[in-house]
Amino acid sequence: MAVNSELYQEIIAELKKKSVTLVAVSKTKSIEDILELYNLGQRDFGENYVQELVEKYEQLPKDIRWHFIGHLQSNKVKLIAPFVSLIQSVDGEKLLKEINKQAAKNKRVVDCLLQVHIAKEETKFGLDEHELESVVTDSPDHTNICIKGLMGMASFSDDDKVVRQEFSVLKSLFEKYQALSLQPSAFSILSMGMSGDYKMAIEEGSNMVRIGSLLFGERSKK
Ligand SMILES: *Cc1c(COP(=O)(O)O)cnc(C)c1O
Repeated sequence: MAVNSELYQEIIAELKKKSVTLVAVSKTKSIEDILELYNLGQRDFGENYVQELVEKYEQLPKDIRWHFIGHLQSNKVKLIAPFVSLIQSVDGEKLLKEINKQAAKNKRVVDCLLQVHIAKEETKFGLDEHELESVVTDSPDHTNICIKGLMGMASFSDDDKVVRQEFSVLKSLFEKYQALSLQPSAFSILSMGMSGDYKMAIEEGSNMVRIGSLLFGERSKK
């Protein structure tokens, strides 16, 4: 399946105007497909599986900024800590602690987003509002982590009102913790919106979208 380069140019032009960062979600896609987008100028790519990310990192140009967006197990953090650019799916204090430890071993500061559970569906990962509160306010100072903002996934729903409402909840939480942040300029990323709902997410205040199937074509089930 080839990349839809015309659509890419269209989307990237629209996002640039709005100062929204595009993360091209390349999970299950080939090295060739990724290189096609890379050659059009894309540098931010998102992956869900640690092993797949490591293999792609090794084979692809080193100026790619790799975003980890899937569920991350603590015991796998060490595999991506040397190079990952932004871990978007942090969902607990234990994971933060491990990222901090592995980042220190690599003499790095690793940027992270806290993933918030905003969808109605039970299956999606992420912190609820109470857990978010305790992670932000109670967590000790991790010197090798920088929490840059929040990430969330809306429900897969045909009801725009439901999706929009979920995005607006996340936007409010983002503003709340940005105001509380010691460094509001560092707490600056609100990652929400995918192929099906990114326009609505941007209308609700997103400044980073994660788009896969729209750019690369549908994924076969893994
Ligand atoms: C797969 C995935 C995306 C991209 O989904 P598309 O619908 O293909 O754009 C975005 N965010 C996360 C967390 C994902 O797992």
